[in-house]
Order: sequence, then C-alpha cells, then structure tokens
Amino acid sequence: MDRNIFDNEHEMFRDAARAFYQNEVKPHSDRWHEQGIVDREAFLKAGEQGMLLMWADEMYGGAGVHDFRFEQILIEEIAKHGDPGFFMTLHSRLVGPYIGELGTDEQKQRWLPKCVSGEHVLAVAITEPGGGSDVAGIRTKVEDKGDHYLLNGSKTFISNGILADLVVVVARTDTSRHGLSLFVVERGMEGFERGKNLKKMGMKSQDTAELFFNNVKLPKDNLLGEWNRGFYHLMHFLAEERLLGACQYLANSEAAFEATMEYTQERKAFGRVIADFQNTRFKLADMRTQMDVAQSFVDRCVLEHNEGNLSAEDAAKAKLFCSELEARVTDDCVQLHGGNGYMDEYPVSRMYANARISRIYAGTSEIMREIIARSLGLDPRKKNKAA
Ligand SMILES: Cc1cc2nc3c(=O)[nH]c(=O)nc-3n(C[C@H](O)[C@H](O)[C@H](O)COP(=O)(O)OP(=O)(O)OC[C@H]3O[C@@H](n4cnc5c(N)ncnc54)[C@H](O)[C@@H]3O)c2cc1C
Repeated sequence: MDRNIFDNEHEMFRDAARAFYQNEVKPHSDRWHEQGIVDREAFLKAGEQGMLLMWADEMYGGAGVHDFRFEQILIEEIAKHGDPGFFMTLHSRLVGPYIGELGTDEQKQRWLPKCVSGEHVLAVAITEPGGGSDVAGIRTKVEDKGDHYLLNGSKTFISNGILADLVVVVARTDTSRHGLSLFVVERGMEGFERGKNLKKMGMKSQDTAELFFNNVKLPKDNLLGEWNRGFYHLMHFLAEERLLGACQYLANSEAAFEATMEYTQERKAFGRVIADFQNTRFKLADMRTQMDVAQSFVDRCVLEHNEGNLSAEDAAKAKLFCSELEARVTDDCVQLHGGNGYMDEYPVSRMYANARISRIYAGTSEIMREIIARSLGLDPRKKNKAA
C-alpha cells in the first residue's frame, strides 16, 4: 500500500540519507561487525551531514526540525542501506532530548553543540545488573555532599557504552520507590570506569558495556531536570522511545523481506525458482500483508506524535506488534533461504540475530502487554488496593 505521510521535502531527505548510508556506513559494516564497535568518525560524518539531533535549535548547531518523519526516514534507510548497529538514533532522539528538554540554558550551551557535530557521543544508563524492567528498583545512588554530588553504583547493557562521552545516568536520590534523579556523567571523570565491550548474539557492530561509578564527584550543575523527578522524566520520554523502536523493527522486517524476495526468485530447487512454490508465495504474501497493516498503524502513530498526542499505550502497541512481527518475518526469511540463511555472509542471518533483542530492550514485550492491559482497566494493583 502506498504511504501518504511524506511530501517532497521528506523524499529529498530520504535520497540524501540513503546516499550517506551507502557511502559512509555500508562499506564499513563488515569491519564494524568484526570489531564489535562502529568507528567514532561515523558520528562525525553524520554530524557533518546535519543528521544528528536535527531537532536542536540553530543556536546549538541543529536544524530546529521537530518533525518526527525525518527521524523515521533515517531509521528506515539505515535498515536497508546502512547498518542498524550504528545507533545514531539512540544518540539523537533517545538521549539527546533529555538534555534538550530537561537541560538548563547553560547545560544546553555546554553539551548540545558537540552532540550535534558528533564530537560527543551519547548514552543512557538505566539498567543495572540487578534488573532492567523494574526501573523503580534502581540501586545506583547519588548523595548530596553540599558543594557536589557523589555517585556510586554500576550499570549494564549500555548501548554506545564504550564510545559515549556523555552518559545520562539514572540514580536513586531518595528511599521512596520513585525517588530517582538524572545526572550527566562525562568521559574522564575520576571514578567512572567502563567494563569490556560485551559480546552479544546479534547487533555485533553496536558497542554495549558495563559502567562503574566509584565515588564519582559530580558538579552540582550536572543534575539534569528536577531532583527526585527522574522517574517521571523517564516516563515522559518513553512513548517516543517505543515509537522509534517500532519504526526500526518494521524497517528491519522490510529489509529482510526485500532480501528474501530477491533470493527466492533466483535460487532454484526441483527445476524451478523457490518463489514458485506455493508455500513461498503464501509466506511472502503473509509477510507483506502484516507489514502493510503494521505500517499504517506506525505512520498514524508518527503523525499523532508530531501533534503531541501519542499515548503511552498506543506507543506500546506499536512497539509490541512490530518487534513480534520482526521476529516472525526474519525467522520465515531465514527458512526461505535454507542453509544459506544460517550463514553470516547472508544479510538475513544477521537480521535474524539482530531481531532477537527487539522484544527485550526499550521495555520487554511482557512490559508492553502490562501497559496495554492497564489501559484496558485491567490493573490488579488497583484491585488489591481497593480490597
Ligand atoms: C543489546 C542491549 C542493549 C541495551 N541497551 C540499553 C541501554 O542503552 N540503556 C539501558 O539502560 N539498558 C539497555 N539495555 C537493557 C534492557 O533495557 C533490559 O535488558 C530490559 O529492560 C530488560 O531488563 P532485564 O534484562 O533486567 O530483564 P528482567 O527485568 O530481569 O526481565 C526478565 C524477564 O522477566 C519478565 N518480566 C519482568 N517484569 C515483568 C512483569 N512485571 N510482568 C511480566 N513479565 C515480567 C521480562 O519481560 C523478561 O522476560 C540493553 C539490553 C541489551 C541486551
């Protein structure tokens, strides 16, 4: 089905994004996959092209473009023509807005220009070795020492964790369940150490690390947003984070589908191309149908988000459906490739391995179902309270 949410300006931007990925990302993808990390220069090159933190005000070097469709285009093109392990979007749209929306003028002046240029890479550190789904269970803590804050604790599974120059860290600042605050920890601060680049099942070009904070002295003006309001600040950004995920998982499904369309029309068995078997045609027809239906919902969510109307539950539905769809599509695509689909040199093999994380990070599928069920009035916590 034709999509009707883009105009000429978007399509021109899509061409530029595609060319950027084809020239500056794809040629390095195999090497990044082997080395387990993208080159830092990739962020600088994306910055030169004006593709990082496009929403940032011009006074910080940005383009002041808030239209989410431009980010959606970057996500769609990187899935097909780049390397989804290059986490530009995490930098630009998942972490950058914490500084852009919660930061003081001084903080924005201090940090945003280098994030826009790609000189500073961003990460967000919520998850701890003790757990990720239950954000209110965070144990990393910050004490107010009068003229500075003192940070102690550790985080794990942090994307861009090795490359990051600025990390938005969520820490406990009060014993109440939601007593959390956000802090910016900078590369080189004494007591801030990184663990090794963690080896993963998929998304190999993406660096993922443990972070350790041992008596890190934070200047008072590295508190981001309000003291003890960190939990609510996080909740504020979650709808966008889940929409970003949905766009990405759907784009990954499209990339796997296209590779499989091509493969099945070339590969032969029993004297005919694989695409001639009814099973192949039906599988591809099912994928196409489900992706088209999902795309309509995601595009509608994008427009709602542009209007500031995207609800947490609709974002959760998009994230849940697209991540589960990506799992089914990539699995079927590997199957239609036969043994070649299991080989690393075939893109679909990496796509299958990459897809496994989509149902886990940015809130697991189970947590998405919880959010959606609560929106239906099905909340046992409320029932227990009333009893
Ligand atoms: C490659 C990768 C990159 C990541 N990047 C980042 C990052 O940049 N920053 C960051 O902070 N974190 C990051 N994470 C962490 C990620 O967000 C967490 O792994 C995720 O939130 C799940 O938390 P957990 O691993 O502790 O699982 P757990 O919370 O221990 O969950 C285990 C299982 O229990 C289920 N479960 C938990 N609670 C409930 C419930 N209430 N109802 C039903 N089922 C439940 C979960 O769905 C899951 O199936 C990343 C993880 C990976 C693997």
